Amino acid sequence: MTIDAPAHPLSTVAAEAARRRTFAIISHPDAGKTTLTEKLLLYGGAVGEAGTVGAGNGRRAATSDWMEIERRRGISVTSTVLRFEHGDTVLNLLDTPGHRDFSEDTLRVLAAADCAVMLLDAAKGVERQTLRLFEVARARRIPLITFVNKYDKPGMDPLAMLDHIEQVLDLAPYPITWPVGIPGDFRGVVDRRDGAFHRFTRTARGATRAGDEVLTADEAREREGDAWTVAEEELELLDAVTGDLDLEAYATGAATPVFFGSAVSNFGVGLLLDALLELAPSAQPRPTVDGPQRDLDAPFAGFVFKVQANMDRRHRDRVAFLRVCSGRFERGMKAVNARTGRPFTMAYAHEVFGDERASIDEAFPGDVVGVVNAAELRVGDTLYAGDPARFPPIPSLAPEHFVTVSNLDTTRRKHFQRGLDQLAEEGVIHLLRRDPVADPTPILAGVGPLQFEVAVERLRTEFGVPVRVDHANWSHARRTDAAGAEVVRTSRWAELVYRSDGMLLALFAGDFALDRFERDHPDVLLDRLLDR
Ligand code: GDP
Repeated sequence: MTIDAPAHPLSTVAAEAARRRTFAIISHPDAGKTTLTEKLLLYGGAVGEAGTVGAGNGRRAATSDWMEIERRRGISVTSTVLRFEHGDTVLNLLDTPGHRDFSEDTLRVLAAADCAVMLLDAAKGVERQTLRLFEVARARRIPLITFVNKYDKPGMDPLAMLDHIEQVLDLAPYPITWPVGIPGDFRGVVDRRDGAFHRFTRTARGATRAGDEVLTADEAREREGDAWTVAEEELELLDAVTGDLDLEAYATGAATPVFFGSAVSNFGVGLLLDALLELAPSAQPRPTVDGPQRDLDAPFAGFVFKVQANMDRRHRDRVAFLRVCSGRFERGMKAVNARTGRPFTMAYAHEVFGDERASIDEAFPGDVVGVVNAAELRVGDTLYAGDPARFPPIPSLAPEHFVTVSNLDTTRRKHFQRGLDQLAEEGVIHLLRRDPVADPTPILAGVGPLQFEVAVERLRTEFGVPVRVDHANWSHARRTDAAGAEVVRTSRWAELVYRSDGMLLALFAGDFALDRFERDHPDVLLDRLLDR
């Protein structure tokens, strides 16, 4: 079915889209993502004073600590969307959980981002989780801006860091700023674009903006002595071996501009923010599954990249995070859900800032809208007005951990079922069954065991169902088709299961079983990507 889109001057949509920057930060836990986020907000003028934190552990209370489990473990399970303005630009920062077990959530968030900031610890460089997230970003070929953090502490020499980035990630680094002084004896950075020296100053606990002291080369030489001479030599070397930033390579994720700084001291954050304005792309037309790309000034269309239930404990509700891809979103507007063909009225839409919400009346390509009471929406759904469109499904990672789950309170069978369906639709876990009728014992699958902890906790607190989970022996899941399913059914190396949405999966216990099956049946479809 189609619904007529309200008419709007096209120039407004294009102009609004052009001032959006929608990005995520990818990093290994502890590299400083929370700190950098706070400081970007401070520089962006969204909050007056950074560091208004809760629980004494340095984490901003306004970020996503909706759930007990997050508080207990001090990790961020769910993502938040932070929106702030800088000058004339609207920045949408999609926060991603740092823990490996929630990589799937990150994958979905990156599907909604147009660019990512890769945050590295100056001493540790590319760490395990950085690499994993980098691979996800690379698969999407989105541009990456690198920020080397914690330069106020001892760490790698900057040339060694560039070499490291190039070797480990096969990504061409292009330093835009260059550090003066070694990590731990940090004097500041030279902006290679204009040669200005930004002197490193610490502000009191980094709570206010760093006063930017900018010196000329002559002043810097006098003031910083040997540290300056070394940096000058390095800069000459860099000028000789690197040309300009290759914008084409950058746009496809093959080259990255690099910045150095110290988020905790606010240093380098202003330059990074300027880079986001200048270098991060604004929303672009999106490819669709079976039609032409959706132009920015086409009627409204967007896709759901995350569904979160019970964000607000006082109101049991369900919020679907919608990334706007074309046209103008208006509160109360009707759109069609491409999966069901049914109309959907977005009466309650919110801008979500941490766990606080403000009602939003309109949004443009690049923006993220939280649609409240969205019981019908699932991750991957496209909503459109005017010409039909369907955006490609969001990839999800092949699960590596499996448990069976049993309900300990037989009087709550329906709640148990509803809870499992809800968690599967949100993408908290994959819900599998050997046979929907003959053996309906639910099997949960995920990338990491913490996902099960979240599921158990939520079944208990939100649905009032106590459950027990038992480890299951599988370690790999692959998507297959009807022909493959026949082969899997008769194989001793694999087991066939159905995902809650009907997808057929082959499960394997161990590498050996998977290798063996692949060798015996090279023609059987076994796909690692289980789209949502
Ligand atoms: P996240 O786990 O990536 O969110 O990291 P956090 O922002 O929580 O930071 C982890 C730790 O590193 C905290 O103790 C921060 O105070 C510290 N930290 C963050 N940025 C810097 C920095 O630029 N310099 C130094 N020395 N410490 C930092």
